[in-house]
This record gives sequence, C-alpha cells and structure tokens, in this order.
Amino acid sequence: MAWRSSGTSNESLITNLARNGLVKSERVKEAMMKVDRAHYAPSHAYEDSPQPIGHRATISAPHMHASACESLLPHLQPGARVLDIGSGSGYLTAVLANLVGPSGTVIGIDHIQPLVDMAARNMAKSEAGRTMLDSGQVKFVKGDGRKGWAEGAPYDAIHVGAAAAEHHKELSEQLKAPGRMFVPVDEDNVQHIYVVDKKEDGSVEKEKLYGVRYVPLTDAPA
Ligand code: SAH
Repeated sequence: MAWRSSGTSNESLITNLARNGLVKSERVKEAMMKVDRAHYAPSHAYEDSPQPIGHRATISAPHMHASACESLLPHLQPGARVLDIGSGSGYLTAVLANLVGPSGTVIGIDHIQPLVDMAARNMAKSEAGRTMLDSGQVKFVKGDGRKGWAEGAPYDAIHVGAAAAEHHKELSEQLKAPGRMFVPVDEDNVQHIYVVDKKEDGSVEKEKLYGVRYVPLTDAPA
C-alpha cells in the first residue's frame, strides 16, 4: 500500500498520499506541500519509504509523517507549542511548524549533535525555513528526549520519532491538559503506535494503534 504513494516530485508524492487516504485533511496536505522532502532526505526523497540520514538514523516514511500529523491535528492549532522528539532530519519539525504557524513554537530535540546541526541546515535551505529559525518559531536542541524538554513545557502536542522502551512519565507530564502525544512504544520487541491523550481534568488515556518499525529511543552514543 505504502509504495503506491511514491511520486516524482514533492507535489506528486503528497497528492498520491492524499489519493490513497494517508493524508486526510487539507491542513496536513498544505503543510506537507510547503516542505520539500528533498531538503531533508539525501536520496529517493519522493519515495514513500524511510531513508538513511547517517548516524544510524532514518527519515521516516512520508505516510508515517502524515499519520502523525493527522493524529495530532486537533492539537496543532495556530499558536500551539509542540515538541518533536528524535527530530533527526528536521523534516517533521518543519511540517509541524507550518501547521502551528508563526504564533506557534516547535522544538526539535535529538541526542546526536551532528543531527541537531543537520536539521537546522536542512531547514535553512528554504527561505520559509530560515524565517522560522530566525524568529525562534523553530528551535533544534540537543538532549535526551526520553526526558522531554522541560524548558519548553507544557506542550499541546508531542511527537516521538523513535521507539520508546516504556511510557516515559516525563513526557505525559509535559503535555498540556488537554494535549496529545504520538509515540511508538516497544513491548517485547514489537512496536506499536500509541496515542496518549491528557484530558482537561489531567487524566491520561492511551490508545494502541497499528504496528510499526522505528529506530529505538536509546542512550546517546559514547
Ligand atoms: N523524525 C525523524 C526521525 C529520525 S530517526 C525524521 O523523520 O527525520 C530517530 C531519531 O531519534 C534519530 O535521529 C536519533 O538520533 C534520535 N534519538 C534516538 N534516541 C534518542 C534520545 N534518547 N533522545 C533524543 N533523540 C533520540
């Protein structure tokens, strides 16, 4: 199913994702159209598949980025605060920034400094990306994403781009009430996407969705 969405340009990739029902909303479609995946994926940028970006990391497949945005969408209103954990290439960070607009803030966190630097360089390839970095709308920081990023909390939405070994409580603590997190969780070597909702009364509900294969959320390399 996924491969059927591959395209020959950014526009055709997103159009195919929409045609196949993987991009569902006009808002996600528009945001993904505005970010050229070729600025972030070193090869096969318009294929609907993950690609290596170095440092044992991959840029996730476009249909996974689409699914994450669609899930988080009710919490990605203009002005929202978002944390993108395991920001890697910076691609999704940029799409999220388009969704929350200039009054919003997106922080991308990764534990590998060269990837933190690469994400900012990738974004700076477009004028719109440079503006978002210069204004502080988007910030890339280095840190252990399993602890979230307390300085920027609380968040309307948290995206986790690597598989967590458990439901880290720091992450749900850093969500607003209401707020939502999209996170792959590894249980006995099988990974599933969880959508974690913090309700207005502060209670937390977890919904287990489909099976996935992400790189793990780990200790930083020595
Ligand atoms: N969303 C990114 C995914 C990159 S792959 C993209 O599509 O480009 C997963 C990323 O998680 C890698 O960049 C890896 O360095 C990072 N990562 C793994 N463990 C981490 C941790 N404990 N803290 C922060 N980042 C981590």
